[in-house]
Amino acid sequence: MIRGAKGALWLNNNLKKLTWLVNTVILTMVFALMAIFYVIKAEFLVYFSIPTAFVYLIGYALIHTNHLHGYVCMVYFWLTIYMGIATICLGYGYGFHLYSMSMIPIIHYTVYMARAINAKYMKAIPVSIAIAVCYLVSTLLPAFNGPIYTTDANTGVIFWIINSVTVFAFLIFYTNFLIKAIVHSEECLEALAMEDNLTGLYNRHYMMGKLEEMKESDETSFVAIIDIDDFKKINDNYGHNAGDHILKSVAETMSAACKDYLVCRWGGEEFLILGQDIAEGRSRMEEIRENVESTVFIFEEQTIRVTLTVGMAARKEAKTTDKWVQVADDRLYTGKNTGKNKVVIE
Ligand code: GH3
Ligand code: MG
Ligand code: MG
Repeated sequence: MIRGAKGALWLNNNLKKLTWLVNTVILTMVFALMAIFYVIKAEFLVYFSIPTAFVYLIGYALIHTNHLHGYVCMVYFWLTIYMGIATICLGYGYGFHLYSMSMIPIIHYTVYMARAINAKYMKAIPVSIAIAVCYLVSTLLPAFNGPIYTTDANTGVIFWIINSVTVFAFLIFYTNFLIKAIVHSEECLEALAMEDNLTGLYNRHYMMGKLEEMKESDETSFVAIIDIDDFKKINDNYGHNAGDHILKSVAETMSAACKDYLVCRWGGEEFLILGQDIAEGRSRMEEIRENVESTVFIFEEQTIRVTLTVGMAARKEAKTTDKWVQVADDRLYTGKNTGKNKVVIE
């Protein structure tokens, strides 16, 4: 999946931390609510809080062992029941039914996050419908029959505030986390879309965009197409991995020498450099050519030597971007046909 290993890793690392934090917040709330249930003598809800606390204690084990799908299933099942029972016992004036308002969007977020890290997930629509049905049943029952426990109005207000704040906090927190995950994932994808996998240089697609941005008035801007000489023989004599090693090493040499230029892998064993001043660029290309010629590359104890041929053209030499690159390519071709290992500029 090309979503980007980096993006998935970010999500993976943070998702576990977030789930752990949420589990702790809910468990703390279970104990706090249990204490209030005890004070208001809602006996059944006090007892019901005991298995509820166990659910979240088991939750830690599931998070720790990376069973996030199991965790979400268990918590959603139990929270729906908890929400329903608390509402039936106390009535909807206490705000327990509000949990459904955050549970429904969050289960949809969960699907996105699970898919991003290639994990299992619950189907959001059936789960949402189940939550909505539980919401309706648990609010209608006390509406018609009255709640099982009655307390003074102030207690109801306290519950309403606690539950409302919790629901809003979860919504704000999870939505914020989701947006961060999406933005991060997009940034990783953007970086992937402009990068060459092997060398880490910009790729041809990105460079095409940059070339198109150059105007005819940028007269002295230049492109240099650099081609490794007899590269096929490197692969044939030393193996494909050795070839890859040479590509990476040459890419590093060029990047180091051209920090103020844009360097891309144009394709295969060809690179394209875009710079500002062709006179200065020419001496830089000569330096790179000499540097590579005099370097002894070592791969798995084999010593390998390569040379480069370069074709250069200034922006003013062509009307369109395609023709500009073509002029440089023609000069590269001339260099190849006249002995290689040279920089051709006219
Ligand atoms: P010339 O001096 O005329 O440029 O000859 P050449 O052998 O360098 O050119 P040719 O186009 O005949 O061969 C290019 C070779 O580059 C063939 C292809 O297998 C190899 N190549 C292209 N991409 C890669 C790559 O990513 N890794 C490796 N190891 N080899 C590659
Ligand atoms: Mg070539
Ligand atoms: Mg070549």
